[in-house]
Amino acid sequence: MEVHGACHCRAIEFTAHIDPSSVVLCHCTDCQVMSGGPYRSIAQANEGDFKLVKGALTLYHKVGDSGNSRELGFCNLCGSHIYATSCLKDHDSKSNRILGLRAGTLAEAGELPPKLQVWCQSLIPWAQDITALPQKERQ
Ligand SMILES: [Zn+2]
Ligand SMILES: [Zn+2]
Repeated sequence: MEVHGACHCRAIEFTAHIDPSSVVLCHCTDCQVMSGGPYRSIAQANEGDFKLVKGALTLYHKVGDSGNSRELGFCNLCGSHIYATSCLKDHDSKSNRILGLRAGTLAEAGELPPKLQVWCQSLIPWAQDITALPQKERQ
């Protein structure tokens, strides 16, 4: 499906084509630290199906919990994370990279229920069930 994304300040806007069955929740410790939340929702897109329509991404390279080096694309104005992917130097240039789009940046986020949880070795147990918490419409 076609998705439309933007960072918080809208300096960056993009479109992508994703397979809704590829959406995962990631419980890795890097996602916890970098998102500030207990886990992160990620939708996968082939690099060739990702189109930056506005702005320029800033790249940060890190070594993930997997031991692989990862390239993270984010907005250097508002700090919103856009994607993670393999680093070009480690990548077979004959194939598209897979971008793990940060699903919260997508206008269609509500239509993208996750299908799998990954890196559950570091999951935060209370985050597995928040349905019993009282709810307020606003702050
Ligand atoms: Zn921004
Ligand atoms: Zn993660």
